Amino acid sequence: MTSEHATQSAALSAELESVKIEIPKIQDVKLVAAVPQLVRTEIYKTEHKQVAVTCLFQPGYPEVHLVTEIKSKTLGYKFLEGLAKICDNEAKKHIGKPQVVHIVQFVSNFIDENPLCVCADEISNIKGKLSLANDEVKLKQKTSQVVIKICQEEYFISLKLTIPDDYPLTQVVPDISEHNFPEFLRINFQAQATELARQCVQPPLKKKPKDPPFVPKPSLQPVVEYLIDCVKKYPLETCRLCHERALPVDPTNESATRGKHRVEKVYCGHLFHLICLHKHMKTPPFSEGKFCPACGKQIFHEKFKVSAKVLEDRWAHKQAKQRELEEVVDFLD
Ligand SMILES: [Zn+2]
Ligand SMILES: [Zn+2]
Repeated sequence: MTSEHATQSAALSAELESVKIEIPKIQDVKLVAAVPQLVRTEIYKTEHKQVAVTCLFQPGYPEVHLVTEIKSKTLGYKFLEGLAKICDNEAKKHIGKPQVVHIVQFVSNFIDENPLCVCADEISNIKGKLSLANDEVKLKQKTSQVVIKICQEEYFISLKLTIPDDYPLTQVVPDISEHNFPEFLRINFQAQATELARQCVQPPLKKKPKDPPFVPKPSLQPVVEYLIDCVKKYPLETCRLCHERALPVDPTNESATRGKHRVEKVYCGHLFHLICLHKHMKTPPFSEGKFCPACGKQIFHEKFKVSAKVLEDRWAHKQAKQRELEEVVDFLD
């Protein structure tokens, strides 16, 4: 053994001794193994924030940096890979000195300071779906919030999503903080998003006997994907009755959203101008119900909650009036 090797080996032995004393002192960290090849620890913050950290000594250590491997049953793969790279860079700053305790403490602090690590892979997938230059994703680690702006042409929503401490067991809380859609659509988006989040963590009320046992799912990505879909789709949607854009191209054009130009969303989710829907609903046949020309589903809308019989009578009455009018006109001729 050369003297250089002897020095390195002595340094490693001394570090392993200090690791055995120092690691158990770090909050939430358990020492699993400390041998000349590696040090293995487990960090437990919550049920969904737990990792196993392995620090591997390379030949020449401590004159070369530690290599860190991080594994977790709960945190995402991309996040763990990224964190391991950050650890390697962190270890490089301590070349020539003991590195293990520093790295384990670093990982423990990193998880505390980045509560959004529980949904890191979901965030990365969401970023992949938002390709437009105007869309934005901002992470607010201090308040455990994800802030997203989704745009389509002149329309946008700004969305604030709070990730609770015991996520994904408890659902994400979505809040549409700013937008320029008609208010009824914002209310609708918000209600549907909240319901989607709830369904991710609460078992269905009516359980079918053959359903597998319910397991709570992460709710961030489904909620954001739903809202991305809404924002990308609705500004371009046409009223299938008149084939014009349902929403005005310019969201600030308020006169185009009032009165007969008002837009209505029916049960199936398609948009129609109120005036077009009126015409459609008040024209026979009535007996079979009224169907959406876009998807063929029956149209339910609170404004048209009258029975086929009433509609039939109203139509007959209108026709009778029309005939009377025509007769008068004939008479005048
Ligand atoms: Zn129309
Ligand atoms: Zn429809």
